[in-house]
Amino acid sequence: MARSFSPLSRYETGEFMFKKILIANRGEIALRIINACKELGIPTVGVYSVADRESLHVKLADECICIGAAASSKSYLSIPAIIAAAEITGADAIHPGYGFLAENAHFAEVCKACGITFIGPKAEHIRLMGNKSRARDTMIHKKVPVVPGSDGPITNEAELPELAEGIGYPVILKASSGGGGKGMRIVREKSELLSAYNMARTEAGAAFGDETMYMEKYIENPRHIEVQIVADNAGNTVHLGERECSIQRNHQKLIEEALSSVLTPEQRREMGNTAKKAASAIGYSSLGTVEFLLDGDGRYYFMEMNTRIQVEHTVTEGVTDIDLVKLQINLAAEAKLPFTQRDVKFAGHCIECRINAEDPVSFMPSPGRIEAFHAPGGLGVRLETAAYSGYTVSPYYDSMIGKLITFGHDRPEAIARMKRALEMFFIEGIKTNIPMHLKILEDEDFQAGNLTTHFMERFARK
Ligand code: ADP
Repeated sequence: MARSFSPLSRYETGEFMFKKILIANRGEIALRIINACKELGIPTVGVYSVADRESLHVKLADECICIGAAASSKSYLSIPAIIAAAEITGADAIHPGYGFLAENAHFAEVCKACGITFIGPKAEHIRLMGNKSRARDTMIHKKVPVVPGSDGPITNEAELPELAEGIGYPVILKASSGGGGKGMRIVREKSELLSAYNMARTEAGAAFGDETMYMEKYIENPRHIEVQIVADNAGNTVHLGERECSIQRNHQKLIEEALSSVLTPEQRREMGNTAKKAASAIGYSSLGTVEFLLDGDGRYYFMEMNTRIQVEHTVTEGVTDIDLVKLQINLAAEAKLPFTQRDVKFAGHCIECRINAEDPVSFMPSPGRIEAFHAPGGLGVRLETAAYSGYTVSPYYDSMIGKLITFGHDRPEAIARMKRALEMFFIEGIKTNIPMHLKILEDEDFQAGNLTTHFMERFARK
């Protein structure tokens, strides 16, 4: 979208800036970080597993180091391999992207101990927010509205029925260390309680190495609305509006939008201020996302805070004209926020579709070689991807191979652009969810903005 030059795009490139940034990630987010570093004039180090030799980030980073085997536990999650790569190349900062080590407090501590800046918040804040049950308690203490639920973790299964009774069915059991929608069970009646608890615990133990669970009221048909906040070391915290992320499958986001078409400016201000309060209450600095559930009566509840750059940061960039990755790097270098809340203005509407290498009907991953690839373009279209013609999508990593983002003056224009951009997007050789996105865009409820986290279940039945 055409914009006047924004004063919000002032980023420091001075002497105090990092000399070299190592990117501890792969795929589209590695490229996104390389882009930001190039614009800031900072050289980059790419790290890769043996499965990623042909990846674009290997070609585009200024230097590259192979850090291990294909399995991420032996490469992208290997703290010794990544720290060694930083030391060998003389990188003075590490950007973790999202996923992998991005919310690993221990990694942030190791970076610090090695004299390397972790581009993200302080380890103590990652740890606090990474434990959802503790985060919840902290928010209650700071008078941030949370979903009614258990006081702290469940310590004894005998207390389950009374707890659920007190909260009122339906309830949801959630893993304290959970993420990516794992370790959660909805319970509608007492008879299901114990088996759901045991299943969720086992799943959480296997996925996160922590079986601790807590309980919340299950909010029926909510919207998932999250607020982007940015905070510097000097105590300034600003919110950049919300993202509507209700289109999810198995608690995984598929389509995100900024802003939400349902919030009034007053609600936006109120939720924004609540998100700022949540962050500043703990002295948080860096980027962060405060996730809320919004119920049908306009009540909203804190759910969790993510302490990293999110996949869907692009839609906030679209409506604010602020480069969040450059800002994140600046904040890690202890720069002050270059704007105040009053400077932040929202313009237009922005939508992101996550393009996954998967069967659009069965949702099974579809790795393999991309035989032909044609990227859409034109006014108001942004594509973030590391895929290209001849690239092989690896079975070892996440199936998301790109993000298609469109901007419009308003929501209907952003949708129309998304539709034509998806139609122009050719990926041959593997299956993708592009046909599913096209169908969602045609859906009357989607077009009317009638979104809830149950949208996809209803859509599947249509
Ligand atoms: P994760 O960190 O695994 O993504 P979240 O706490 O962010 O877990 O929840 C993911 C999704 O699960 C939410 O977007 C929402 O759809 C659903 N969810 C979580 N808690 C509740 C709740 N109390 N009531 C209704 N839905 C919930």
